[in-house]
Amino acid sequence: MTRVFNFSAGPAVLPVPVLEQVRDELLDWRGGGMSVMEMSHRDKDFMSIAAEAEQDLRALLAIPANYKVLFMQGGATAQFAAVPLNLLRGKASADYIVNGAWGVKAAKECTKYGQANIAAQASPFNHIPARETWRLDPNAAYVHYTPNETIEGVEFGAVPDVGSVPLVADFSSTFLSRPLDVSKFGLIYAGAQKNAGPAGLTFVVVREDLLGQCLPAAPTIFDYKVVADNDSMLNTPSCFAWYVSGLVFKWLQREGGLAEIGRRNERKAALLYDCIDSTPLYHNPVATADRSWMNIVFTLADAALDAEFLEGAAKAGLPGLKGHRVVGGMRASLYNAMPEAGVIALVEYMKAFARSHG
Ligand code: PMP
Repeated sequence: MTRVFNFSAGPAVLPVPVLEQVRDELLDWRGGGMSVMEMSHRDKDFMSIAAEAEQDLRALLAIPANYKVLFMQGGATAQFAAVPLNLLRGKASADYIVNGAWGVKAAKECTKYGQANIAAQASPFNHIPARETWRLDPNAAYVHYTPNETIEGVEFGAVPDVGSVPLVADFSSTFLSRPLDVSKFGLIYAGAQKNAGPAGLTFVVVREDLLGQCLPAAPTIFDYKVVADNDSMLNTPSCFAWYVSGLVFKWLQREGGLAEIGRRNERKAALLYDCIDSTPLYHNPVATADRSWMNIVFTLADAALDAEFLEGAAKAGLPGLKGHRVVGGMRASLYNAMPEAGVIALVEYMKAFARSHG
């Protein structure tokens, strides 16, 4: 079977060894006579799968002991609401740094519960606003930002310094793609479905002192303290996705951890940006320092060629390159499990296409 390299931004590209293990264990998880899909979350086998996944995630990110790791549901979109519900803590407003479409959505959701102060906004969304221009409020409940804007392909190279106000980040599309100093954050969250497993699971890593002040009217299932007190099993969790994510964590460890994964991701991105920058047919609009390693957007000099480019790519086993409908053009998502061979195949296709359409 030839492996198709899918560059879509939506689903996870799962590592082949993980898929193989899932296949091998699908009907019978380690001699227990049933599939993980059939297990109760109270089953001791599932409890061990769940606990091991948490330990492995803690080890990968070196999560300090004073942080809770929550395995929630509802995607990052649910967290757009859960964050203000839990972290406003009686304060009037939170600061939002907006440099893409997901940051806009996060800020908008906050306005249902408190004031979202747009402390900085890029225009257009092709760069990160210079740190000196941010109008941060020292009394804000938290500062929210999106380390990687998936649609526009804009990524922070480093964690911004916001002083003592808790920093909150939507890591959905760059989770586990490079090492991270968790101690710089009050809270990080991410949907699993890009770098870390199947959809249906959402990770929240939150500093303990921020728990316990959820708005009383909030749904119980969104109250981080309740979720933490119940080991993320207040109700039935996404058991199967939790299990697969656990296998992804093990795979990341076997591959050398996040430092090695970060080096690979940097290399993969450089290969594709080099091709874009050195081929006049292609163009990437993002400020060089703020270019994403995960979602690489580009346009063709003649948009009339887009359909042919996409069709040829799909035929060559390289689907998923159509850009988000809001921005058009192309987007290649190079999540952790995208092998370098996939990027090399894409670059070869792009160069050949440019030669025949130059
Ligand atoms: N934030 C970012 C940065 C995203 O990329 C996405 C999904 N593409 C979301 C939020 C929304 O995530 P979900 O579908 O898990 O709600």
